[in-house]
Amino acid sequence: MDRLNGPLDSWSYSTFSNFQKCPRRVYLDKVLKEPKPELIVPEGKTEHPLDRGIRVHDAAEAFLKEDCELIGELQSFVLQFEMLKYLKERGEHQFVIEDKWAFTKDWIPCGWSSEDAFLRLKMDCFLKTEIEAILIDYKTGHKHGNEISHMTQAQLYQLCALLRFPELQHVQVEFWYLDQKEIMSIPFTREFGMRFLGKFDEVGKRITSEIHFNPKPSANACRFCPFGHQVGTDVCASAYK
Ligand code: SF4
Repeated sequence: MDRLNGPLDSWSYSTFSNFQKCPRRVYLDKVLKEPKPELIVPEGKTEHPLDRGIRVHDAAEAFLKEDCELIGELQSFVLQFEMLKYLKERGEHQFVIEDKWAFTKDWIPCGWSSEDAFLRLKMDCFLKTEIEAILIDYKTGHKHGNEISHMTQAQLYQLCALLRFPELQHVQVEFWYLDQKEIMSIPFTREFGMRFLGKFDEVGKRITSEIHFNPKPSANACRFCPFGHQVGTDVCASAYK
């Protein structure tokens, strides 16, 4: 792998998201591989939100791939999931559930485990006709307050779809907010969507050439950080106190 001078040789959307909040967090996690604390179930809940998110994603996958029942948390999207299953069974679309995509630093699709993989991202559900595609991401978290972050994620994911399938002319990214029963749908044309290539090329190169990983302590970032003192292991000496 031709490194870009930093200790990280690849990135993902969540790495980028955490890097924006605090580069030191990425350093502790991805470079030093500091252990994270055990997930503590919040008071009044029966499971941690991260565990719940994994369980709900697994249940959506099982509904579409196997003949499992739709669990309670997915019932508010019963029509949408039934429609996906119908389309999958008709076989007229290229239909992918829980796929893993990777790209080299020159934005050429490559294998997930390839040592040239520079960017990795996971698809919840992807449907494609000849020139159009819909890319669906299930969300168990809040929409409110995450609009900008999710819009950035949509820009990256549609870009990867356009690069992976050069025949595509339109990509629609849909975020299904399962708890809020809302869908945020963002359409991109090829002409518009490809304009994000320069932005994400710069993002990837910035993350993988970073050597300082300076901390960006703030009440909000440190409060939820696995290396801070509130919910974390308290190994970060720069945490906001
Ligand atoms: S505790 Fe705060 S400063 Fe330290 S890594 Fe986490 S977010 Fe960054």
